[in-house]
Amino acid sequence: MSDNERTDRAAGVVAEAEGHDEEELAFDAPERGSAEELLDAGAHSDIDAMRHSTAHVMAEAVMELFPGAQLGIGPAIDGGFYYDFALPRALTPEDLAAIEERMAASIAADHPFVRRELDPVAGRAFFVERGQPFKVEILDDLAAKAAGAGEPMPPTSVYEHGPFVDLCKGPHVTSTGRIGPFKLLSVAGAYWRGDEKRPMLQRVYGTVWSTQEELDAYLWRREEAKRRDHRRLGVGLDLYSFHDVAPGSAFWHPKGQRIWRTLEGAMRELQGRRGYQEVSTPILVSKRLWERSGHWELYRDNMFIVEAEDQLFSLKPMNCPESSILYASRVRSYRDLPIRYSEFGRLHRNERSGSLSGLTRVRQFIQDDAHLYVRPDQLADELSALLGEVRESYGWVGLEPRFAFATKPDKALGDPALWERAEGLIKEALDRSGMAYVVKPKDGTFYAPKIDIYIDDALGREWQMATIQVDLLMLPERFDLTFIDEHGQPQRPIAIHRAIYGSLERFIGILVEHFAGAFPFWLAPVQAVVIPIADRHNEAAEELAGVIRARGLHVEVDASDNRMQNKIRLAQEQKVPYMLVLGDREVEARTATVRRRGAARDEPQQTEAWNDLADRLAAESAARRP
Ligand SMILES: [Zn+2]
Ligand SMILES: [Zn+2]
Repeated sequence: MSDNERTDRAAGVVAEAEGHDEEELAFDAPERGSAEELLDAGAHSDIDAMRHSTAHVMAEAVMELFPGAQLGIGPAIDGGFYYDFALPRALTPEDLAAIEERMAASIAADHPFVRRELDPVAGRAFFVERGQPFKVEILDDLAAKAAGAGEPMPPTSVYEHGPFVDLCKGPHVTSTGRIGPFKLLSVAGAYWRGDEKRPMLQRVYGTVWSTQEELDAYLWRREEAKRRDHRRLGVGLDLYSFHDVAPGSAFWHPKGQRIWRTLEGAMRELQGRRGYQEVSTPILVSKRLWERSGHWELYRDNMFIVEAEDQLFSLKPMNCPESSILYASRVRSYRDLPIRYSEFGRLHRNERSGSLSGLTRVRQFIQDDAHLYVRPDQLADELSALLGEVRESYGWVGLEPRFAFATKPDKALGDPALWERAEGLIKEALDRSGMAYVVKPKDGTFYAPKIDIYIDDALGREWQMATIQVDLLMLPERFDLTFIDEHGQPQRPIAIHRAIYGSLERFIGILVEHFAGAFPFWLAPVQAVVIPIADRHNEAAEELAGVIRARGLHVEVDASDNRMQNKIRLAQEQKVPYMLVLGDREVEARTATVRRRGAARDEPQQTEAWNDLADRLAAESAARRP
């Protein structure tokens, strides 16, 4: 969860329902940049204790190579660790090799990790003497905080191994010999405490594992992730590009837009089948709406504000409040529910330019958003159906969704009985679906329990995708939504916020990396290339392309002067699923020799009649198989 999404939570808005948060932080995590956070070594499990211990050993090696180096912090992170250093010069790859060598020696020496407590005055003096201003700063912050709370300053906790002593709460492994196979990976600039007004330090990243096999597998995944990076791969495949005239917003090229439209079309078809009604609400909306929804007060920093005729407007950061205006536009009877409004809404959020990245961290994005208004007695059925929608649509791309049930947090609004009811209904729907799920206690938003959906991609990376939130409060209460029950009495509906792909930008970015650009046939931006062997076959090639295009498929003709083998190689590079080769024999018989993407050289090639081929491909595309 970023700072922005932290604000969302406080604002009672539903950034999470929009499938837009990338990492979760515990609700009670220490404040960002605080002394407590800086002292949290991230060593919350055995493997993380080993990772953080490796960071100490790295700092020991750096201090040996660069006496006088100043130390920032060195926590365990996912897959490894880092340590921040202020050094007289930029580190080179040769430096990393020298650091690794010294680390190996320290590990071979099997120094025990020993914790000591110093009295606060002596502790501060210790780090002053050693010329460690960043450590002193952390201690001074803790002292100021303790003084502010009227508490005594706690003793200074340090960990020592061999010649190295660090300010640290631990925990650590028992000795350096417990550290497994490791590797230093990279160096990046990092501002002290994440503050661009503070010194820029050199952050050295490393990874460490219990076994060599795990290290090798990790290094392979890392290389593979670089190779698949959607920012590079998607540009190479001519899907989209990024330009500094529009930070955080992709320019979609024809092929990328085709993927987009295909995904959108598939979801539209599913939604039609499921009785959704598609709507479209304005992008530019008066601040009066955002005042009512609470965004103006608490989310304004994340909104792009526009002034016109002395009035303030904002580009919408989410669709929810406007959806409720549609709901409230007429009197609703219990017979009208459920109402399912879907909207491919174009949203803008004012993310800091420094945090933008490819398609996964953007300022402008479109969601396959929907708001469902249901009676309480309809909720369980509706949730079951929604879980089915998630399973079906992730199945189109071969991804297996995993579900987590996030329950009422400590800080929750509204009637506890309503919460109990909503949680009971979610649990019932999950159990009835027969799908496995985990419970994340107290991880709901403060106005709604929710179901989070995760996937693991081809590299085993976990992504949080969509969220289904059962909103008893925010839309229903703030916008005073009602329906008239069978006794003529007004009742509150329940609002469900759901986005299945989430942000289309992010979804496509993840798919580009998951498939390494080789999209399933139904989703491929170019589904087939017709390859005439010689110029005299070009006309027939165009004719065949026309036959296939008439079935609604995306097909191109390679009428270049390249030789056939080159044309095939180019099509393979562009990850086109089918190559349809035409020579004299094929043209004469109105057939094509069909070659599949990635087929082995010796795989027998099928020759198919044009119409049969077009019918077969159309059926295959419609089936949306991964
Ligand atoms: Zn430590
Ligand atoms: Zn919503």
